[in-house]
Amino acid sequence: MREDTIRLPGVAVAPDRRDGQAQPGDLTPELIATDWWSDDAVVRAGIPVVDVPFVSVGGGIGSFVTVDYLRICGVPTSAIRVLTQLQSPWESYEYLTRVSQIPRGERLRSDSASCPDNIWGYPSYAVREAWADRSVKPLWQVLVEPIFADYYTPKAGQAFESMAREHDRISYADTVVSGQVRMVRRRIGGGYFTILTPAEGTSPTRRVAYRSRYVHVAVGYPGLKFLPDLMDYRETHRDYGSVVNAYEPHEQIYQRLHAAPGTVLVRGGGIVASRVLQRLVDDRDARGLRTQILHVFRTFVRKSHGPHVWMRRRGGDGWAYQGFNYPKSVWGGQLKARVRKLEGQDRADLYQQFGGTNTPIRRNWQEQLRRGRRERWYHAFQGEIAGLTPGPGGTVHAALHTEQGPQNVQVTAVIDCTGLEADIREHRVLADLLDHGGGGRNPLGRLDVERTFEVRGTRSEPGRVYASGSATNGGYFPGVDTFLGLQIAAQEIADDLSQQGFCARLGPLRSTQQWWLWARGRRI
Ligand SMILES: Cc1cc2nc3c(=O)[nH]c(=O)nc-3n(C[C@H](O)[C@H](O)[C@H](O)COP(=O)(O)OP(=O)(O)OC[C@H]3O[C@@H](n4cnc5c(N)ncnc54)[C@H](O)[C@@H]3O)c2cc1C
Repeated sequence: MREDTIRLPGVAVAPDRRDGQAQPGDLTPELIATDWWSDDAVVRAGIPVVDVPFVSVGGGIGSFVTVDYLRICGVPTSAIRVLTQLQSPWESYEYLTRVSQIPRGERLRSDSASCPDNIWGYPSYAVREAWADRSVKPLWQVLVEPIFADYYTPKAGQAFESMAREHDRISYADTVVSGQVRMVRRRIGGGYFTILTPAEGTSPTRRVAYRSRYVHVAVGYPGLKFLPDLMDYRETHRDYGSVVNAYEPHEQIYQRLHAAPGTVLVRGGGIVASRVLQRLVDDRDARGLRTQILHVFRTFVRKSHGPHVWMRRRGGDGWAYQGFNYPKSVWGGQLKARVRKLEGQDRADLYQQFGGTNTPIRRNWQEQLRRGRRERWYHAFQGEIAGLTPGPGGTVHAALHTEQGPQNVQVTAVIDCTGLEADIREHRVLADLLDHGGGGRNPLGRLDVERTFEVRGTRSEPGRVYASGSATNGGYFPGVDTFLGLQIAAQEIADDLSQQGFCARLGPLRSTQQWWLWARGRRI
């Protein structure tokens, strides 16, 4: 199936506006074609070289939690440079959550102890919320979840505000250099060159080379994945407002439904679809709207499912239900231990078993959709969108293939809540790692990393390249693309670096002492 990729605004790699213009200190054809670079070749190209032991590429939450670990393990800010286009580590995450209907006041998906500002996970978000609000409700919820209450999850705003405090406490800003990374290449003699295109007006040369022993790559999602039906409609009819991906700003659709009654076609069975449906129903309830909702699932789940009684997932009404995007034991239980030992197809098979699209079962979502089915304004069905064409009065005509046969519907808008992630090759830095850096793919087709999160095949002794985040999904540790997963990866990286003498080991004494500093908000 053909899939098109759209770059995330302000998130992924923007096109370089100075491409093709001769400028001092640029990449030469010799450098571009060579896998291993000498200091001499870089100097000959006129590219200034900055020496720093550790470079993190990306500057999102993956970079932030890794730098947090290193700072707690005693690494000074002068030994770290984060090369990024972001103003803050949570900028692109906040953009994605906001447009997919999780503004600061709404709750995220991860649990109380997944705290990217706090490597110890204690006090958890629930404890902190209870303290701030002088309320025992969050504590009661974590005590009785998930049997007598939904899982407790923190508000997005709480996560951002607490990250901002940790950001200041560890002097993260001192490590940040603004710009776009073009590539990471191995250096003859050890270590790496990371080529940065500095933000405009900040450097007399087109590129700057960061020469480091260690590189950490955490570039997030390569881009938005648009399915062909959406892309064809948008490109053919130049209509980017009525047929949208949920990760694009699409407030205009809710505004149109406020102005006049309409029908919306929602596609997808994950948490983003749940949030979009909640927004549609909340607006319906709050404003007395008469919005009709058509909801198309590619796979319509009718009941609980799984290979055997120990691996069953609840399901019904189209949805597969699960509190978090993986079973909890992938972060610290038996699944974590099992996957760590698996190679090749065996690992891919196990990922297949516990993966798949799912959404949390939340009481308010259940109530809203039950009401919608009863009152006949919410219709869920199995099917595929076969084609989209413009309808009269700014509507969209959707041809559907459903279980009951072909159907044609006329809708105000289509909101696609499927896939976010494009292939890793869509990202220039990752593609370069595959083509010139010695990197390879894991059994799921993502970047192959060791148990220490070192990118396999990229070693340039005594240097190491590490990677974390969604690009490494399919490795020995699942759940990498989550707050806790990014922290577990950061811990593995810090442990590996401490064995090489780069940072202190985080043993019980240091950990207790550092937690105490954290609890008192003391800068380190
Ligand atoms: C809608 C949504 C909700 C989520 N909710 C949760 C949740 O509730 N709990 C949870 O645990 N996880 C959640 N996640 C998953 C995950 O925790 C976040 O996506 C997190 O932001 C991933 O961090 P990251 O560093 O890998 O990517 P990002 O935070 O996106 O950071 C990577 C950054 O690298 C930068 N970059 C890319 N290329 C370059 C380059 N060439 N040069 C310089 N910089 C570059 C980009 O600006 C990019 O933003 C959610 C994800 C999404 C999309």
